[in-house]
Amino acid sequence: MKTAIPAPDQYQDMREALRDLCGRFDSAYWQKVDTDRGYPEAFVDALTEAGWLAAMIPQEYGGSGLGLAEASVVMEEINLSGGNAGSCHGQMYNMGTLLRHGSPAQKQQYLPGIASGKLRLQSMAVTEPTTGTDTTQLKTTAVKKGDRYVVNGQKVWISRIQHSDLMILLARTTPLAEVKKKSEGMSIFLVDLHQAIGKGMTVRPIPNMVNHETNEVFFDNLEIPAENLIGTEGLGFRYILDGLNAERTLIAAECIGDAYWFVEKARRYASERVVFNRPIGQNQGVAFPIADAYIETEAANLMRFKACELFDAHKPCGGEANMAKYLAAKASWQAADMCLQTHGGFGFAHEYDVERKFRETRLYQVAPISTNLVYSYVAEHLLGLPRSF
Ligand SMILES: Cc1cc2nc3c(=O)[nH]c(=O)nc-3n(C[C@H](O)[C@H](O)[C@H](O)COP(=O)(O)OP(=O)(O)OC[C@H]3O[C@@H](n4cnc5c(N)ncnc54)[C@H](O)[C@@H]3O)c2cc1C
Repeated sequence: MKTAIPAPDQYQDMREALRDLCGRFDSAYWQKVDTDRGYPEAFVDALTEAGWLAAMIPQEYGGSGLGLAEASVVMEEINLSGGNAGSCHGQMYNMGTLLRHGSPAQKQQYLPGIASGKLRLQSMAVTEPTTGTDTTQLKTTAVKKGDRYVVNGQKVWISRIQHSDLMILLARTTPLAEVKKKSEGMSIFLVDLHQAIGKGMTVRPIPNMVNHETNEVFFDNLEIPAENLIGTEGLGFRYILDGLNAERTLIAAECIGDAYWFVEKARRYASERVVFNRPIGQNQGVAFPIADAYIETEAANLMRFKACELFDAHKPCGGEANMAKYLAAKASWQAADMCLQTHGGFGFAHEYDVERKFRETRLYQVAPISTNLVYSYVAEHLLGLPRSF
């Protein structure tokens, strides 16, 4: 029987193992988590216990030491199974900042716990309410006082704080007026959330369109031990940018998983649903949008694997990672819209999962980077057009 699920590839053993695991969490499970606005605790535990979330952590710290390609397959398979990797993808890429820029002592202290799942590093706090995408203007400050940094300011849309032990924080350590370039003078810190919440850090959840736990965060003289600074003071923005290629490619893979899920769901429904005495898929007006979404998904998938290949070969991949994220998010949103339309009224019923995944995949046009910012990257960095900001 034909299917929209991609043909077996070199990751097939991994895919089979992930399908076994994800298959234990059926659509009723994800519907309940979504309706309750809950956290897929049992799923994340199972994924962690099987070692999948530690795919990119080197073996010396208890991870599997796999590449971005394999890590992206984990994210893809979760979404392809009907689940939502957004509940735990932070654990996969936030640790990269620590791995690349942390001191040997920090890595030894945290990475084994992150690999085993004892510690969750699910959160990264960058976005602020008054400055949004214009990150270098952020207002949160961290001022060194003796052996501590004192943090004041506000963040918004920070994900998974209530399901994390640690959070990476970007704050300004040198005032904007005193740096040569606006990208200088910011630093990153590892915040121990158990130490911080209620002692200078306040968290207020933001109810939103998807079951994605997001929060407003307020810092009022939060004290962080100076040893929690990651890397060199003042280079934090560069470190954050460094991690974005992996993040974008992993999100692209989630979108690819979603897109194949939507195409397959629509293909099946269009083959089975009979109206006017024939399957609706016999009408080209129904079949062609499904074929179109499939073509877009296949094309986006090529760019996703190109980005993975370059990243894993330690070659520059900013263009490919951004373009993979753009193409995959576009393909998954197009596939979502098509799938809803193919299902007619039933697309709106919770039990079909289409409306849930439709909402979930829409996020990726906006976060973690909005589509316009990808255009801006490509225009400036790949095409040499004048810088606009
Ligand atoms: C569910 C969810 C989870 C999130 N999780 C996190 C998280 O864990 N950590 C974190 O730090 N952030 C997080 N974010 C924030 C997210 O990264 C931002 O929402 C996103 O980067 C856009 O920033 P903004 O909302 O401030 O939009 P704005 O910067 O206000 O932009 C609004 C719109 O204007 C466009 N725009 C702005 N400037 C330009 C320009 N110069 N040229 C063209 N277009 C422009 C943007 O593309 C966008 O479409 C999350 C957001 C959501 C919704």
